[in-house]
Amino acid sequence: MPELPEVDALVHFMGPRIVGDFITRTDIGELSILKTADPPLEAISGLEISGVSRVGKALLIEFDGLDLVCRFARAGWLIWHEQVPTGPVRMGKGPLGLRIHLASGAGFDISEAGTKKNASVSLVDDRTEVPAIANAGPDALSIDDDQFAALLADSSSRIKTVLEEQQLIAGIGNAYSDEILHTAKLSPFTPANRVDAEALLEVIRGVLGAAREALNDLPPAKVKTVKKRGLRVHGRTGQTCPVCGSTIAEVSYADKSLQYCPGCQTGGKKLSDRRMDRLLK
Ligand SMILES: [Zn+2]
Repeated sequence: MPELPEVDALVHFMGPRIVGDFITRTDIGELSILKTADPPLEAISGLEISGVSRVGKALLIEFDGLDLVCRFARAGWLIWHEQVPTGPVRMGKGPLGLRIHLASGAGFDISEAGTKKNASVSLVDDRTEVPAIANAGPDALSIDDDQFAALLADSSSRIKTVLEEQQLIAGIGNAYSDEILHTAKLSPFTPANRVDAEALLEVIRGVLGAAREALNDLPPAKVKTVKKRGLRVHGRTGQTCPVCGSTIAEVSYADKSLQYCPGCQTGGKKLSDRRMDRLLK
């Protein structure tokens, strides 16, 4: 799932290319991607794009008085076309969710790999009509020390869960929470209210800041590969921790998994992995 650094890379790339350009046409490839009906999507045809921005993990294409809010879910991403294909779009076939044509001849797709279609696009007069935007907590890169300390003090949930909860702090997902906790040498299962908030916030800023720097000048097609290359524990089960040399372990859930280094984060102990434990019984 694209997180704060990746969506920032999109904003950085798209801004100079689309702001001031006009939408000439929109094609829907997957009906379920469009979550709003009023105003209709055709309302943006002929409009000038006035800005591109990010809220949490969402990308916003801005018009005078309208916002197109794009949310990528787990497998969604943006495909940029210097020359956008003009042929007809086959509905319900393949990854294309929405295609935007620009007056310059360029364009972009919101696409989603796989069979689960969870990416979404909402066209709204007021961005707070989108619940994920209205309910988003402070941004992970702008939350201040006191806000973050209060947020942790209020929760006995696992720190991993708290970092991923968009309503508490926006922008961090499964990959960067693994990376942040590894750098902070914290077990993902530590209760939030037992964490040194000041130290963790410094790590959050460092990890997200470095990721953003690495990704910021890349075209969308390169962002994922470079992101993966920069990860030290996430998605690296069985590999060697670059910090201490231990073998990176994981905890699996029904639909996702987290990775951590027992050497750096849990005093050498394996965290209980209910799925693995069940398989081994
Ligand atoms: Zn380690």
